Amino acid sequence: MRSSSAGPPLSPAIGLLVLALAVLPAAASGQPATGGLLTRAEATDFVETSSYDDILTFLAALNSASPELHVGAFGYSYEGRRLPLVIWGAPTPTAEAVRASGKTRVLVMANIHAGEVEGKDASLQLLREISRGGHAAWRDSLVLLVAPIYNADGNERIRLDNRPFQLGPIGGMGQRPNAQGLDLNRDYMKLESPEARSLVRLFAEFDPHVVIDLHATNGTHHGYHLTYSPPLNPGTDPAIVEFARGRWLPAVTAELEPDWSTWHYGNLPRDEGIEAGEGWYTFSAQPRFGNNYAGLRNRFGLLSEAYAYLPFEDRIEVTRRFVESLLDFAAAHAGEIRRRTGDADARDLTGIELPVRAEYDCGPEVEILMGEVEALRHPYTGETMLRRLPLQRPESMADCAAFRGIETSRVPAAWLIPPGLEPAIELLTAHGIRWHALSEPLAMDGEAFTIRGSSRAEREFQGHRERTLEGHWEPATATLPAGTVVVPSAQPLGRLAFYLLDPRSDDGLVAWNVLDEALEGVSSYPILRSAALPHARAGSR
Ligand SMILES: [Zn+2]
Repeated sequence: MRSSSAGPPLSPAIGLLVLALAVLPAAASGQPATGGLLTRAEATDFVETSSYDDILTFLAALNSASPELHVGAFGYSYEGRRLPLVIWGAPTPTAEAVRASGKTRVLVMANIHAGEVEGKDASLQLLREISRGGHAAWRDSLVLLVAPIYNADGNERIRLDNRPFQLGPIGGMGQRPNAQGLDLNRDYMKLESPEARSLVRLFAEFDPHVVIDLHATNGTHHGYHLTYSPPLNPGTDPAIVEFARGRWLPAVTAELEPDWSTWHYGNLPRDEGIEAGEGWYTFSAQPRFGNNYAGLRNRFGLLSEAYAYLPFEDRIEVTRRFVESLLDFAAAHAGEIRRRTGDADARDLTGIELPVRAEYDCGPEVEILMGEVEALRHPYTGETMLRRLPLQRPESMADCAAFRGIETSRVPAAWLIPPGLEPAIELLTAHGIRWHALSEPLAMDGEAFTIRGSSRAEREFQGHRERTLEGHWEPATATLPAGTVVVPSAQPLGRLAFYLLDPRSDDGLVAWNVLDEALEGVSSYPILRSAALPHARAGSR
């Protein structure tokens, strides 16, 4: 078992800082990247983490050392920073070339929460290894897309106290939200940040089969070095969940033992803020979280959570090793990963029941490794930091790392959106959901949702008070006017369209107040559904 006895870099490494300032510009000025090219974390003995400019400089140096690493961008932050994207394994760095490669496409994204910086520095190390010929075998079956600094604006708002109790970097870290104050890992469905819209465009254009999202957790004091999660929404295609949960993650856990202990992300109920019996509880099934969102797009969304009370250097290392192990498995099973995402895309959902909200699905007891921490003082603020002690105490408890639906709704052949609901259409389009507009009026036998109750959450969340509708679907005949938008469920994003459009969904258009105006004073949900696809069409998107 790996211990954390090395300890954090508590003494100010002033000498090393001076050295780092000497090394970084030299390495960045186009000289060979082999030898001497250090991340800012490495160059400061893990006292500091990379700034946005450090990353651009580092990537430019890698790019000049290895022409196979293409450095570009996939969009913009709120403050106009270009969001870097590195592409490896495709002849040219375009979305068309990446898709045409026929290989399995993997996106590694870091720093969505810009205080959780280990993924950013780990992804730089990984790219440096690749630039020096490391992991060459992956190239046969994988295209790698790396977004090392997704929340670029948050990264630049460094403070020493942005992550209370986290064990470094003691030179500070960025903030959790973006410059708008939005948590980007709650923005996947409503898409209110330019960062999330940039990322979803990347999803639509490059269509990664696998999305690995790198974080750190400061929850329950457990005994693991890193915890993880597959897609958690119970409406996710079984071809995705079975493989991720049943084969991929167990293989990685086995491979990383005994050096690194990994298991499903979880907390004790008191730390998760829920009233429940003793058990190991994961976070949420809602697709506002990235791993769940990728799952509803029929892709492998995999969450990584390094333990915040490991020294920063160890967090970087366990994160890099976890990603390498995931990629080794992806390379060895590249064909199966593509087949499963393809099967999920082709699944006919019409007429099946899918969940619109979920509750924990606790299985039989499992052995969870609990741990302990000791308190240290931050050398510059005097605040308490916690350090993981190298001990693990197995405890048996209910395994609550999955969800089941507590309410379902039937997937129609199509949803029918009347003219005038532009914000809804705009959001569906931003997600990449396909639709077409009726060119002439059309009579339809379908269903309408009768509203019995409409309420908003007491507590504000991400600038919203989420809405919940009560009611039921019943048969309805209508003449749909020209311009009605038809959203067929028979498309790769059918599950995502369902979760956005069903009136009872806990993470859709209704929940995020997109339809508030249209719902004022009406007794029926404005969007209809139909068991058969209407035909007259024009203006396809
Ligand atoms: Zn996080």
